Amino acid sequence: MLEITREHVVCSLSAAHTPAARCRSGETVLFHTRDCYNDEIQKETDSPAGEFANPATGPLFVEGADPGDVLKVEILKIEVGETGVMRTSPSHGAYQHAVKERAARIFPIENGVILFDDCLHIPVNAMIGVIGTAPANGEEISTETPREHGGNMDCRLITQGTTLYLPVNTPGALLAIGDLHAAMGDGETMICGMECRGRVTVRVTVLKGVRMPTPCLDAGPCLCTIQSAATLDEASVLASRAMHGFLTEHGLDAQKAAMLLSLQGNLVVCQIVDPLLTVRMELPKTILDAYGVKLP
Ligand code: CA
Ligand code: CA
Repeated sequence: MLEITREHVVCSLSAAHTPAARCRSGETVLFHTRDCYNDEIQKETDSPAGEFANPATGPLFVEGADPGDVLKVEILKIEVGETGVMRTSPSHGAYQHAVKERAARIFPIENGVILFDDCLHIPVNAMIGVIGTAPANGEEISTETPREHGGNMDCRLITQGTTLYLPVNTPGALLAIGDLHAAMGDGETMICGMECRGRVTVRVTVLKGVRMPTPCLDAGPCLCTIQSAATLDEASVLASRAMHGFLTEHGLDAQKAAMLLSLQGNLVVCQIVDPLLTVRMELPKTILDAYGVKLP
């Protein structure tokens, strides 16, 4: 299997980056990822230099991917390391009123559980924080920021067994992956998840001539449109409209699709701590089945 090692990291997504590896459409690739602190917090007194903030491994050039295509990324396996780390921030997140200092804690991860403290063990629910392709129009976007290209979406449902659809804006798509969390709550309200280094195995397939509301996740029981904006209000409207557009493109009239989403579409906050905020709309796939809509 093709592997991309931890030496190959980027801190932005851009069409200008030199690919770390090349693969064919349909190939399986293993990404070795650093944690969001660049693996620099090995003990609780360590402080990362910040030179490689939120690094993502890659980028991967997928042969045959052309602008206008969709990159289908099947997340076959996520493995996290034997420890996780969290770091407080006095300047970000919901608890700045109470958490005034930078402090790091390292947590053991054993047999699928995080040893949070003597009272509590939390089951691992590994997810990918950063996953995206190169943005359009030659733009360079930091791996701290989520946008139309994916990036730092911090969506709790991007887990093993799900399939993410991303836009192809540049030849080869230039996929990068990083910022694994062994667990995270919706909202990521303090500033981080259980930050881990690890390994992600994906199958990447180029889809031609399909229209998907990227970024979009087949999360198993539900389909999610994922959108990011300066406010949760804006992101909520964008995620809702993306799902509405998907339904109308598949034959539902605009009025019926709007009624249906008001009944069965669920807006969920992904994260409130990145430079843009992220919201997803979840729609049960039983509804797609009812209208004969198949995902590519
Ligand atoms: Ca993140
Ligand atoms: Ca993170």
